[in-house]
Amino acid sequence: MPRYEVTIEKDACDGIFACLTRDPRFIEGEDGLATVDPDADPVYDCAGDVTDTADRVVATFDDDRIDEAKQAAAACPTDAIVVEAVDAAEPSGPPESPEEVAE
Ligand code: SF4
Repeated sequence: MPRYEVTIEKDACDGIFACLTRDPRFIEGEDGLATVDPDADPVYDCAGDVTDTADRVVATFDDDRIDEAKQAAAACPTDAIVVEAVDAAEPSGPPESPEEVAE
């Protein structure tokens, strides 16, 4: 499955919500700006990790719905949404160091 990251820059988001009509995983957050909820899609059972901070929303998905996210990004009049494929093979943390045994 392709892995991809969806970022919403809150500074750029105007709360116009064109994104919601393109991809139902986009919802209105408590701050009145767009956020992402993987469970919001009534049709597809979707799983993803979402980090929602004061500055931006970053959601990572592992499915074949990148095109819907890209349509939401294209529909956004302020270009607040960025969708990028990420390499699933890359480990997110540094490699583990060899275990040292002190005697
Ligand atoms: S379309 Fe863009 S500006 Fe409008 S709510 Fe969605 S992210 Fe924000």
